[in-house]
Amino acid sequence: MELSVVIPIYNEEANIGELYQRLMGVLEAMPLPGGFELIFVNDGSRDQSLPLLLNLAGRDERVRYIDFSRNFGHQIAVSAGLDRARGAAVVIIDADLQDPPELIPSLCQKLREGYEVVYAKRRSRQGESFGKRLTARLFYRILANITHISIPVDTGDFRIISRKVVEGLRLMPEQNKFLRGQISWIGYRQTFVEYDRAERAGGATGYTYRKMVRLALDGITAFSDAPLKAATLSGFVVSGVAFLVVLYTLYARFVTRDYQPGWASLMVSILFLGGVQLIAVGIIGEYIARLSANVRQRPLYLISATNTAPPAPGRPEP
Ligand code: UDP
Ligand code: MG
Repeated sequence: MELSVVIPIYNEEANIGELYQRLMGVLEAMPLPGGFELIFVNDGSRDQSLPLLLNLAGRDERVRYIDFSRNFGHQIAVSAGLDRARGAAVVIIDADLQDPPELIPSLCQKLREGYEVVYAKRRSRQGESFGKRLTARLFYRILANITHISIPVDTGDFRIISRKVVEGLRLMPEQNKFLRGQISWIGYRQTFVEYDRAERAGGATGYTYRKMVRLALDGITAFSDAPLKAATLSGFVVSGVAFLVVLYTLYARFVTRDYQPGWASLMVSILFLGGVQLIAVGIIGEYIARLSANVRQRPLYLISATNTAPPAPGRPEP
């Protein structure tokens, strides 16, 4: 098997037909003597996505599907596809045609030049709300500033990775997946190809703000200790200021004996200290929550049906 294409599916009934057509058009025109496969991971869709996939799989043996027992989330759906992909290289692509299948040959070309990862970088984004573009821009830049590894900005999961990288990912046992960060962490030679991101072809986004915030926090907590350090630093700064205020208070009370009942200063310092403490506790909580998720060692996902073979040894299968 030369190439696997992993496609996470969450309520994509409006796009599956066209996606299949366009992918096949592109892949059949490519020189792939070893053959290719499409792996659709149905992430608990509530619409007609699953019957559509089963139908495709019945007609075309290159179509593989994995049907999850419920919605586990985009990153886990992609991970399941990677676990079961058999290709020497794997393309990760969204189902909504925002990532153009026509870019796959350029990605493959770069891979042949000796790169292990070729990611698709968004030159522009169309048809996405101002809020989404702004938060995405901000997030990528903040993340780039607080991590030690360099995670490329304005890049989603649309990319091609070699078998080496797939096996690297499968060795990483974390429960809170942030694949684009993990792939940067893995290293090897990486490069990119630029493209203009289109509007979603049909249906609605499955990424609610809640899911986006979770992904952002997963990315930050997995690849940076900066928030913890900021909490510590703010603790020191606040304690320093508090110490000076204590000195001043003692001085005013016993030396100048010029002191006021002091309601305002009391309120300000209590509120300020309380706020800083709550923020610090919250940040620590975010990390502890992820620690505990990893300690529990639950399987990453459960499959209710599939026509893929169980994966080769690597990480033990969930
Ligand atoms: N997706 C998924 N599970 C989810 C949410 C999304 O598998 O819980 C899939 C979705 O079907 C699509 C890809 O992840 O193939 C990207 O999602 P979407 O296009 O909704 O995100 P956006 O492009 O709006 O960020
Ligand atoms: Mg999309």
